[in-house]
Amino acid sequence: MTDFIFPPAATPSLPIGGEDRAFPVRRVYCVGRNYAAHAVEMGHDPDREAPFFFQKNPNNLAPGADLFPYPPMSEDVHHEIELMVALKSGGRDIPEDRAGECVFGYGVALDMTRRDLQGEMKIAGRPWEIGKAFEESAPCSELVPVSETGWRDNGAIWLDVNGERRQTGDLNQMIWKVPEMIAYLSQYFELSAGDVILTGTPSGVGPVSRGDLMEGGVEGLGQISVRVV
Ligand code: MN
Repeated sequence: MTDFIFPPAATPSLPIGGEDRAFPVRRVYCVGRNYAAHAVEMGHDPDREAPFFFQKNPNNLAPGADLFPYPPMSEDVHHEIELMVALKSGGRDIPEDRAGECVFGYGVALDMTRRDLQGEMKIAGRPWEIGKAFEESAPCSELVPVSETGWRDNGAIWLDVNGERRQTGDLNQMIWKVPEMIAYLSQYFELSAGDVILTGTPSGVGPVSRGDLMEGGVEGLGQISVRVV
């Protein structure tokens, strides 16, 4: 066993409904512009283009968090409510018709975004990390196993801020469906048990301020309630 010079960081994990053991997280992939109406609101053509991905750090996930600390170095932090998919297996070049077998379960997450910094990076042609991969940038629910929910390719997804509906959509509006995302990602990366995918956000993204209460969910798969502090 390797002897470390200091104790290694704890393995990030997600709780699982009705299960004492946790889901250990390996990587977090996020897909961009996966709902046509959101692509339009961000100034892009909604025609089906190849999906694109970025990553958050596994320890950016904040399962069960009821507070979201407003991050430093930004004055325009946006909410993005998203279906979260957790994988129990992976591989390379996974065929689309086998991709569903990789799914362990579902949850709901917020892909919190420093939109001002992300915008600067887009203009400069630079990576998005400072806009996306910051501390506690992904408040999320526990996971529900697909063995309990069955396969889900439709269902309402929503986000309210201070009781007012801000984002609304349906999983059936996703341009790239979950099996397609898994198949596509596996052409570029070796997927593995423990990988998590945030599957994109419906339209209605917008800024939050300290004190705001964000409440959202995906029908039958999870809900979150997080206050910005
Ligand atoms: Mn997103």
